[in-house]
Amino acid sequence: MALHTPASSGNSYIPLFTTFVHPSAQQRVSDVLASTFLSEGKLVKEFESRLASELGMAHPAALNSGTSALHLALEVAGVGAGDEVILSPQTFIASAITIVQAGAKPVFADIQYETGNIDPADIEHRITPRTKAIMAVHWGGYPCDMTEIKAIADKHNLVVIEDAAHSPGATYQGQPIGSISDFTCFSFQAIKHLTTGDGGALCTRDPEKAREVFRRRWFGIDRANSPMNEIGEREYDLTDVGYKYHLSDYAAALGLANLEGFADRMARRRGLVQQYNEGLTGVPGLTHFERKDDRQSADWLYGFHIENRLAFIRALKAKGVAASVVHDGIDHNTLFGGKRMELTQQRRFDETQIHIPLHDNLTSEQVAYIVDVIRQGW
Ligand SMILES: *Cc1c(COP(=O)(O)O)cnc(C)c1O
Repeated sequence: MALHTPASSGNSYIPLFTTFVHPSAQQRVSDVLASTFLSEGKLVKEFESRLASELGMAHPAALNSGTSALHLALEVAGVGAGDEVILSPQTFIASAITIVQAGAKPVFADIQYETGNIDPADIEHRITPRTKAIMAVHWGGYPCDMTEIKAIADKHNLVVIEDAAHSPGATYQGQPIGSISDFTCFSFQAIKHLTTGDGGALCTRDPEKAREVFRRRWFGIDRANSPMNEIGEREYDLTDVGYKYHLSDYAAALGLANLEGFADRMARRRGLVQQYNEGLTGVPGLTHFERKDDRQSADWLYGFHIENRLAFIRALKAKGVAASVVHDGIDHNTLFGGKRMELTQQRRFDETQIHIPLHDNLTSEQVAYIVDVIRQGW
């Protein structure tokens, strides 16, 4: 288990991520194990209702992964064979692989070099009669230009799906991410902000579509309205394809534990980001990502652009500090086309982006140390 570097361990390796497990989790999970009610039940419901009330998510359905959330969103949005979905390559392959799983084709648009997010100005000319949806990935937790994206989607009658794997707790023009678009997908994977081990949530604005999500996350059977008959068979009629994508109660117990103090953890994280921002102001060869006042990042990553990147990574490594691109553009994968596309800003981003440690076990002293290491040059 990746865990809890002691606060004083200035000389030990500082990783990019850690996994946060709240101290109350052991008891909560152990209670579920003792109860033997392991699968989807009342704790999943409780987890969902707290995601809605505390994080402002619209009709969140708890699922077994963020990837399942993306796939189910595409299915419920009616994306299928022959359709196209526009997204940026600056993401993890999960975003695009689910489009292929749905039988559709990922169409890559360029990003903004300043943020790593999809550039709304590069979307419209990629729309064809087959385009069904735009998938907006909030890179590192910083929200995309949702107003502009929604305007394009409305004009061309497209669905908006947010890949919000990096952005629980983020806001855009005062609205929580998870409440804005037709569909928003979160991940509760081990190194994400809020983990259930593995897990995810699919938020849906339209209550009708939300009901479909809940039905199709469990084979397409409406659990609440399919009573057991006298011979012991659940009464239902399967009308379309569903999946086995629900979350289990033992995972929800971990999620509920990790929701304790979530706002405080986020505030602490933002404090560390501010410390980095101040400490790294005016460093030659380092350019901060753009941050606008109308939105608040969930700060999953702390990234920027750097000159002479390999030397930077080596210099930090020599001082016990992780640095990573996390992901570069995914368009070169054979499944998605097999070559790096001519996306000018994505290619620039691939050359200079870098991320340094940001996680719940990171201390203010460690941030000061990392700032100092960077200021010494590379
Ligand atoms: C983590 C991640 C996912 C997938 O989430 P899982 O819960 O691991 O399936 C999707 N998109 C992005 C951008 C991610 O970082």
